[in-house]
Amino acid sequence: MRIVVKVGTSTLAHATGLMNIRRVESLCEVLSDVKNAGHEVILVSSGAIGMGAGKLSLKGRPTDMPTKQAAAAVGQCELMYAYDRLFSQHNHTVAQLLLTGSDIEDEKRRVNFHNTMFRLLELGALPVINENDTVATDEIVIGDNDTLGAIVAQTVQADLLILLSDIDGLYTADPRRDPKAELIPVVESLTPEILALAGGNGTSLGTGGMVTKLRAARIACEAGIDMVIANGVRPADIYRILDGEPVGTRFIGRKRI
Ligand code: GLU
Repeated sequence: MRIVVKVGTSTLAHATGLMNIRRVESLCEVLSDVKNAGHEVILVSSGAIGMGAGKLSLKGRPTDMPTKQAAAAVGQCELMYAYDRLFSQHNHTVAQLLLTGSDIEDEKRRVNFHNTMFRLLELGALPVINENDTVATDEIVIGDNDTLGAIVAQTVQADLLILLSDIDGLYTADPRRDPKAELIPVVESLTPEILALAGGNGTSLGTGGMVTKLRAARIACEAGIDMVIANGVRPADIYRILDGEPVGTRFIGRKRI
C-alpha cells in the first residue's frame, strides 16, 4: 500500500511549542516499521511554525507574516533534523519537499512534483512534505496541511490518507461542547448532513479543524482514496488502521470504475 500520513502540530509539539520527543520518536518508529513491512510511506508534517516559535522562545504562535515565516524557517530545520536522525536509526532515508499553492496550480510544476515523488518512492526514500511557509503568502498559500495531505495523496495515487490530529475523528456534534456527541466510525458518502458537521468557523481546536479535514476528505474520496481521521496521541494506532480495525473515522473513497 502507498500511505500518506499527515501529522498536525498538536501531535508533534507540546503546548510550549517544543517537540514532544516521545510522540515523535514513536511516530518515526511505527512509520519505519510500516515501511519495513513493504508499504510506501509519505509523511506530510506540520509543526514548522509552532516549533520555530518554541525554539525562538516566542510567546505563543506568531500572527504577523514576517515572524511566522521566520519561525517556519527555524522550525522546519528542527523538524527535518529530528526526522533525519530518527528515521536513519531504522535505516530509512528522508527527503524534504516544500510546496506552495503555485506549485500545485502551475501544470509544469505539478508535473515536476509528481515526477520527483515517484522517483523518490522508486528509490525507497521517505518523502516528508510541508507547505513552504517561508515564502507562502496569502495569495499563493495552500493554507493547511489537511488539504496539502489530500493533494499529495491524489498526486501519488495513494491507497490511504491518514490525518493524525488532536481529535478522535468526526463526531455528531462538537465533543468539546456537547457531552452527547458520538464518534462516527464510517462515512460512506459526503452528504450535506456530514459536511454540515464541520460547523462554522469554530475555533482552531474545535470544529474549525473539521472544515479542512472534510475538505481533505472530499479531495481524497473523489480520487478514490480512503481517508482516516485518528488521534495522534497513539501513533501505534496506525498499525490498527492498516489492519482495517475501526479507529477514528474512515471516509470511504469513491470506487474507481
Ligand atoms: N505548515 C504549517 C506549519 O508547518 C502548518 C499548517 C497546518 O498545520 O495546517 O507550521
